[in-house]
Order: sequence, then C-alpha cells, then structure tokens
Amino acid sequence: MNMQNEKKPIIICENLVKIYKVVDLEVVALQGLDLIVERGEMLGIVGTSGSGKSTLMNTLGGLDRPSAGRVLVDGIDLLSLSDQAMNQYQRSKVGFVWQQTSRNLIPYLTAQENVELPMTMALVTDRRARREWSEWLLNEVGLYDRKEHKLSQLSGGQQQRVAIAVALANKPVLLLGDEPTGEVDSVTAQSIMDTFRKLREDMDLTVIIVTHDPRIAEQVDRVVAIRDGKISTETIRQVSQLEQVMAHPSGDEAGQAAGEVLAEKLQEQVSFQEFVVLDSAGRLQIPKELREQLGIGKRARLELGDNSIIIRPVEGQGDDKPKHLSIEEQIGLLFAQETGPQDKAGSVKRLKGSRGK
Ligand code: ADP
Ligand code: MG
Repeated sequence: MNMQNEKKPIIICENLVKIYKVVDLEVVALQGLDLIVERGEMLGIVGTSGSGKSTLMNTLGGLDRPSAGRVLVDGIDLLSLSDQAMNQYQRSKVGFVWQQTSRNLIPYLTAQENVELPMTMALVTDRRARREWSEWLLNEVGLYDRKEHKLSQLSGGQQQRVAIAVALANKPVLLLGDEPTGEVDSVTAQSIMDTFRKLREDMDLTVIIVTHDPRIAEQVDRVVAIRDGKISTETIRQVSQLEQVMAHPSGDEAGQAAGEVLAEKLQEQVSFQEFVVLDSAGRLQIPKELREQLGIGKRARLELGDNSIIIRPVEGQGDDKPKHLSIEEQIGLLFAQETGPQDKAGSVKRLKGSRGK
C-alpha cells in the first residue's frame, strides 16, 4: 500500500443509484447516496427495514452492481469492472458476514476446513500457509481450541465467529457485516462486536456493520442513518481532549495517574453528536413523520433565524397550528426517530486505539 493511498478514503460513493426491476415494477433502493469512509474506520449503518442498507452493503461487496453513480473501494472503480474482475474483487478485497450464519459455512466441515476453503478457492496451494493462517484467524476469534469441531457442533455465536474468520481468510481490506448480530443474544452480540474491533486493530481493517441494536451502534466511530436510499443523518463519536491526553500520555507518572482519573470521569460524559447530512447540492432530508407533524407538504418556507435556519410550513397547507422547530430541534427529533426512545445520554465506553494511525 503506498503512502498516497493510505491518506485517501477507502470508500467513496457519489450519487449512488440502484434500481431493481421486478416485472414492470421499479424499486429505487438507493437514491443518490453519498458516503465517504476513511481507512481504518469502524462505521455503523442504521435504518428501517427496506431503507437500502443491504443494497449498499451488497454494492460495496461487489455482489450487486449499482444502476448509476460512482463507487470507489480502495481505488477500484466498481462500475468499470468486468464480471471476472468483479469476482476477483469479491474474493480478495472484501469479507462479508451475514445475519444468517450458515450463509458462508459448510456444516459437515470443521471450523478450520471452513476457514481454509476460501483460500483453496483463491488458489493458495501452500498447505502449510493455509493451516497457519487459518489457525491465526481462529485464535483471533477465540476458537483455536475448537478448530477440529464440525460446524454443527458449535453454538450460533461460535459459528458466527467462524464466519468472521472465513470472511477474513483472503486478507481483505474491508469487512462488511450485514446485521451480523441479528440472530444472537446480547452477550454473544457483544463478543462478536469485540471480535470485530480486535480484528480491525490487528489486521488494519475498515469495518462496516449494519445493525438495529443501538448499544452496538454506540461502539463504532460513526453511525450513518439511511432513509429512503440516502444517508439522512450521521452520529459521530466525540473524542474529548482528556481522552486524547490518555491516548498520548506524558512521561510524568503522577500527571498520568491524575489524567486517568479525570479521563475516567469524563468518559461518562463522552457523547455522540448527531448531524443532518447535506448532499453536494445542499439537500437534506426532513423525515416524513416530522413533515406530517408540522403539516409540511410539497413546499415550506425557509427563513434565516438567529444563527439558525427555520423551516416553516406554508400557512393554509395542512396543520392549522404550525409548530416552528429550529434546526437543532429537528436534529434532536431526527435522532429520536432513527434510534427509538431509548436513552442515548448514558455512558459510552471508550474505544481502544485511535483511527487514522
Ligand atoms: P434493508 O437492508 O435496509 O432492509 P434493502 O437494501 O434490502 O433494505 O432493500 C431496499 C429496497 O430494495 C426495498 O424496497 C427492497 O424491497 C428492494 N429490493 C432489495 N433487493 C431487491 C431485489 N433483489 N429485487 C427487487 N427489489 C429489491
Ligand atoms: Mg437488509
């Protein structure tokens, strides 16, 4: 990997459009989606069912071709690839973990045989290299001592961890998880998330995870919400100054200890900041619920307020008692609607390591 490459985002999606045609019906699954993902980032994707999350993942994974727009992964323009080059891309650049654990796995093979299979398919003929690498991976996912077990002898959570090892068999740069914790209990879900984080560090991966679970969404660097095939909001983990001090402590031991105590206190206040995403033309999405609540139809008034932009319904169009919300209030509402009513102000664990190193 050259230096120039290292600084560039690993993923660039511009105005991505995907239209599925079923008989004479057209479904627009992605409607001009823009997304940039930095190298080494751990990104969460949330959104209601049918919003286009899997379509985006399948596009990034080279399983699906977009109808229009631009998508670059690790410098490769996915729209320009031949079928053969696309197969090669799928096999070498990305690892995929699905909600259905069984999708990548063969039940009558052992854990290790499962991990070695993609290597065999990628023509890694050196048996010893295959064995050593599969053992390293199984150790990373905490299943070294189960390597001889048949898949059917492993629990759901263990099978999912084998699936992660399988996804990484060919040393991809990008790991995609489409609701990988969707079918396991919360303790197992946590251990799977820990595994993703560990692998991100140890293998210099970029990780994207689709999830419904807000607790899991809190463990990534950034969460983007997809609404109707477009990114509508994004939530970025706030790194406090003291956390940064923790990451780069001075040599002074006493100062370091004091810093640790303070940082620990502060961690409880570390929060996520949510933003509405504007596309390159300055468009933003106002959720349907919000528009309905305010009686906003096809038109609205835009006014410059005190350090804010106010979007007002046009009088005589729907609701006779229009409520005026500032952008800040709207952002608050957006978050509440994306992630449900659960408490988001609670403590957030500090993630180990920092990105962009
Ligand atoms: P999500 O993963 O967020 O639930 P999807 O990306 O699976 O959403 O789907 C987005 C939209 O595209 C939905 O309306 C869905 O019905 C449609 N869609 C997805 N895959 C196909 C397909 N293979 N053929 C036709 N329509 C599809
Ligand atoms: Mg899906």
